[in-house]
Amino acid sequence: MVKVYYEDSVAQDALTGKTIAIIGYGSQGHAHAQNLRDTGHEVIIGLRPGKSADAAKEDGFEVLTVAEATKKADLIMILAPDEVQGDLYKNEIADNLEAGNALAFGHGFNIHYGVITPPADVDVFLAAPKGPGHLVRRTFTEGFAVPALFAVHQDATGKASDIALSYAKGIGATRVGVLETTFKEETETDLFGEQAVLCGGLTSMIEAGFETLVEAGYQPELAYFEVCHELKLIIDLIYEGGFAKMRNSISNTAEYGDYVSGPRVITDVAKAGMKDVLTDIQNGKFAEGFIKENQAGFPEFKAMRAKAAGHQIEAVGDELRKMMPFVNKKD
Ligand code: NDP
Ligand code: MG
Ligand code: MG
Repeated sequence: MVKVYYEDSVAQDALTGKTIAIIGYGSQGHAHAQNLRDTGHEVIIGLRPGKSADAAKEDGFEVLTVAEATKKADLIMILAPDEVQGDLYKNEIADNLEAGNALAFGHGFNIHYGVITPPADVDVFLAAPKGPGHLVRRTFTEGFAVPALFAVHQDATGKASDIALSYAKGIGATRVGVLETTFKEETETDLFGEQAVLCGGLTSMIEAGFETLVEAGYQPELAYFEVCHELKLIIDLIYEGGFAKMRNSISNTAEYGDYVSGPRVITDVAKAGMKDVLTDIQNGKFAEGFIKENQAGFPEFKAMRAKAAGHQIEAVGDELRKMMPFVNKKD
């Protein structure tokens, strides 16, 4: 059974008197930094000059270089993109770590796949919210949070768990629950989730559904509403009360169709594909491909991104969303 920590189970604040450096001020970085500041912690930002650095200054943070911030802080949370963390660590962080510091991550990728190997005298942990950074901030300001995972890779001080949990509390996550895991489990399940279901599986399914209707001669706008726009309403019901609440809310016709047709679409073949995806995550093949792509300047990545942006569903959706300004909440 997974161990879950809430506000009350994280009693003493192991971060008292410590300076926290957040490296990066993007999706996760701005949310961690602002939430930690609001819970009374000393936060500085480590960044190169640019858009994020300007935004962090605008928001009232002290912005230093990554090297300076690492030197000044007791806890260094790396929230730069996964693919730049290896070089960033080597060039600016490694030499500025001190014994007893804590090095933290929002995703286990670089530790798990051996891209970064910290010295033995620092604590290494992860605190990974299970949601996009903008929701980590938005839910916090609303008095809630996004649940998070935490794991300790290396416990040099004997306090790594307390520090990790205090950090998770500082970003608000203990309000809804912090689950204990390992770097291996967080990394592999996170990659699988985003590839097979949340991002990859979902967009491929929406595209296939959209194409099936449009190729059969139905109007693209109807197809968009049917297989894309309505999805949020369905997901909201599942999010609130599981499949049961969703199935309770839809018509009997829809529920009957759900049972008889869902398994005709997501067949054993689709599940075998998921198992292949998981295998490549477990044996490091996916990570190796991503790292090599990055070293080459992301040629394939950029080509796939351009191709996806050119899909008809994107143009149809852009037009329809102009009529629905309420769907695009600004953060
Ligand atoms: P973003 O791409 O949103 O932000 C990255 C930040 O790092 C930016 O502020 C960027 O600044 C900065 N940065 C980029 N390159 C460098 C560099 N060479 N030196 C210094 N700073 C740099 O990243 P995410 O927030 O998406 O991801 C951060 C981490 O959080 C990753 O480990 C990811 O796996 C994890 N995570 C992300 C989630 C998400 O919701 N996005 C969810 C859970 C975990 P600049 O403007 O200068 O480019
Ligand atoms: Mg991820
Ligand atoms: Mg219907």
